[in-house]
Amino acid sequence: MIRVDKLNKSFGDLHVLKDIDMTVQESDVVCLIGASGSGKSTLLRCLNFLEVKDSGSIIIEDEETDLKTHDVNKVRQKVGMVFQHFNLFSHKTVLENVIEAPMYVKKVPKAEAIENGKQLLNKVGLSDKADVYPSKLSGGQKQRVAIARALAMKPDIMLFDEPTSALDPELVGEVLATMKELAKEGMTMIVVTHEMGFAREVADWVVYMHDGRIVEVGHPTDLFESPTEERTKEFLKTTQ
Ligand code: ATP
Ligand code: MG
Repeated sequence: MIRVDKLNKSFGDLHVLKDIDMTVQESDVVCLIGASGSGKSTLLRCLNFLEVKDSGSIIIEDEETDLKTHDVNKVRQKVGMVFQHFNLFSHKTVLENVIEAPMYVKKVPKAEAIENGKQLLNKVGLSDKADVYPSKLSGGQKQRVAIARALAMKPDIMLFDEPTSALDPELVGEVLATMKELAKEGMTMIVVTHEMGFAREVADWVVYMHDGRIVEVGHPTDLFESPTEERTKEFLKTTQ
């Protein structure tokens, strides 16, 4: 479970997150939608401590979590993140990418990290690519490796920031399928996405952000079919 209370973040004079309150229960899949610049990535980055919040609290598994009191590496073990651009290590093979953090951050013995890494590659459909370098993979395959790599830390929650936006259209489906599978297995997920079909099908909740605020939260059918806020209606028109 992850809870955010009155979270605020500014970059200089630009107030990017304004009193964000959000609770994501265990096994919930939350899709975060909103126009460019509304603060979606900044919110995810605050949850993973890639950005430091100005005020408010972040509660992860019932524990108020703060960089002053917590080791950032420990916190990031609980919160996995997948980015639009995959950020794989190009000089390491697929399997080496997946076992790197468990071995060096978590100190998992190599044999165990390899065993777990192979299982994860199998799960994302890439068993046969364990020993190749990322440059030999398609974008969809790279993104599935990035997902396996995040899962290798056995996180409690996974954050996805537009994981399919950089992909050619024909490769989007395989990544969404992997994410659907994870959702089905009960992973807690927050997904920033423009894939409204995915949000409708998979999300338990959809959160619409505008200008640094959460404007509306609803079940996908309610939010997409009968949004209550004018701003949500306007935004949804632009996505059709
Ligand atoms: P997009 O859909 O384009 O990814 P977003 O909703 O993810 O947009 P953010 O990336 O969170 O939006 O950015 C919110 C605002 O904060 C934008 O105005 C952006 O320019 C600004 N911003 C983000 N990161 C920084 C930074 N490191 N320094 C200064 N301003 C930033
Ligand atoms: Mg963004």
